[in-house]
Amino acid sequence: MTPNGMRILDSWGFNSDKARAVYAEQIRMVDAKTLEPLMVDSFTDCEKEFGHKMKFFHRADLHSVLRSMAEAPHSEQPGEPVSLSLGRTVVDVDCETGTILLDTGSIRKDLVVLADGIRVMAQLLCSSPSWIMIVVS
Ligand SMILES: Cc1cc2nc3c(=O)[nH]c(=O)nc-3n(C[C@H](O)[C@H](O)[C@H](O)COP(=O)(O)OP(=O)(O)OC[C@H]3O[C@@H](n4cnc5c(N)ncnc54)[C@H](O)[C@@H]3O)c2cc1C
Repeated sequence: MTPNGMRILDSWGFNSDKARAVYAEQIRMVDAKTLEPLMVDSFTDCEKEFGHKMKFFHRADLHSVLRSMAEAPHSEQPGEPVSLSLGRTVVDVDCETGTILLDTGSIRKDLVVLADGIRVMAQLLCSSPSWIMIVVS
């Protein structure tokens, strides 16, 4: 996680220790046969230069702590706890009406965020200049 990313996580009260982060001090790419360093990138000055350290996380640990924060009660985290619905497939979104068409039915929301990764749905829906952002609440 870059210093910029860490700054955002810290502002949310993210607990790096709980997510078993380790400080990223250096990355080396080495020759597979000789182990001679081909590229060495040092991150030891990150905090001085950018205000935060660079950290490594295991993806599952990062997810797990972010998820527990999102689902935490108001007494532990600001805002209402998020309700997650997993294992559903979005087949279409009507941006005008905020209607999300699932393979099992449809739901309507005031705000819809499309975060389907490298998939094409967001690109297709957002290719029109009239769409700015789509959010699910
Ligand atoms: C092999 C590999 C290694 C990587 N290593 C690193 C790394 O070390 N550090 C790093 O910072 N980044 C790494 N990345 C990049 C990082 O994984 C992505 O940049 C990041 O996951 C993108 O997050 P996202 O939320 O946009 O999309 P995703 O993580 O792809 O999440 C999209 C989600 O949407 C769901 N979805 C898609 N379509 C639908 C649909 N129609 N209905 C319902 N759900 C849907 C998918 O199932 C998925 O859960 C790596 C990527 C790969 C492939």
